[in-house]
Amino acid sequence: MNVTGGFTAVDGNRVASYIGEGATQALGSVVSPAPSEPKTPLLFLHRLVKRYGEAIAVNELSLTLERGEVFGFLGPNGAGKTTTIRILCGLIRPSAGHGAVLGYDIWRDRFQVRSLLGYVPQQFSLYPDLTVLENLWFFASAYRVPQRTASCRIETLLSQLDLFAVRQKRAGQLSGGFKQLLAIGCALLHNPPLLLLDEPTSGLDPTHRQTIWDLLYRLSQEGTTIFVTTHYMDEADRCTTVGFIYAGELLTMGSPSRLKDRLATHILDFEIEPAIPAQAALRRVPGVISTRLRSGKIRLFTREPNALLTSLRQCWPFPEFQWRGYQFGAPDMDDVFEAYRSGQLPAILQSTEML
Ligand code: ATP
Repeated sequence: MNVTGGFTAVDGNRVASYIGEGATQALGSVVSPAPSEPKTPLLFLHRLVKRYGEAIAVNELSLTLERGEVFGFLGPNGAGKTTTIRILCGLIRPSAGHGAVLGYDIWRDRFQVRSLLGYVPQQFSLYPDLTVLENLWFFASAYRVPQRTASCRIETLLSQLDLFAVRQKRAGQLSGGFKQLLAIGCALLHNPPLLLLDEPTSGLDPTHRQTIWDLLYRLSQEGTTIFVTTHYMDEADRCTTVGFIYAGELLTMGSPSRLKDRLATHILDFEIEPAIPAQAALRRVPGVISTRLRSGKIRLFTREPNALLTSLRQCWPFPEFQWRGYQFGAPDMDDVFEAYRSGQLPAILQSTEML
């Protein structure tokens, strides 16, 4: 495999404007915690705020991540996920609060911080006229990765990301999936301890999604912390920790199993015929928060399931529908997402578990 030879691109403006001269000079020298911090978390955010005029995109966001965590950052469109990631990258200055990566302040020390993280944005941001290999070499050179190290790293990444067969193709001619794999490869060339990915699998087929998740797991096992946004709830389930942001506020954070467990006693699966009109009708029953069709059954989210069941048994209000049975449902991450997105969950669950 020939991946050596280096790439001496001259159009460094775009990359340099993100990576920054300070970062490339500091690369390799700042991967240990800032000396003043005795037990430094990998990522620490404290009451981070971003305002755009009157609007608040991120509101008092606090969280801590350790090495090797796979953190899924969930929330509906416009919740504040991308803004948070761009703040972490030092691309946006927070309006208030502060954060640190391995002890380095995300704004004041942003050039050092950029050498500690890899960033895969939502939009394709590589050089379309360069080949896959040239893009990789370009980013290796921008991050000042020594040539021999870069050669090994590129060889490994081409193989891990299934990019070897397309290494001579121009990036602009790649399919969406390969473009995304290449973007991840470019973000990993300097072996950063923190990888930020903004919807990395959006629009990808299951094979490419699996390739990316295999890589993320491998990286996390090697100690890299993954901070990933996704709208796919099966991917949220693969994270070690998920956080749910809504209207700029982090409503909850925990393992997927813990978040699902908290819902378990609030979900009922009803067998009713015919299901489609019954679903709409049930939504209007007092105490029902939301209803959805699931495998022919009606999944119902309620604050007081036992009270609801008693009331329906006493007086079934829909003579046109046949109620054949029910059971408590096993929540999945779709249910968790829906519960938080509806804005109802914090009112239902006890505040003791809330952030
Ligand atoms: P999506 O899932 O659609 O990518 P998101 O959770 O990443 O959404 P953000 O892009 O962070 O959401 O946006 C959060 C809020 O901040 C939105 O209301 C958005 O309109 C607003 N916003 C983002 N950038 C700006 C800006 N430059 N000026 C004004 N408002 C902005």
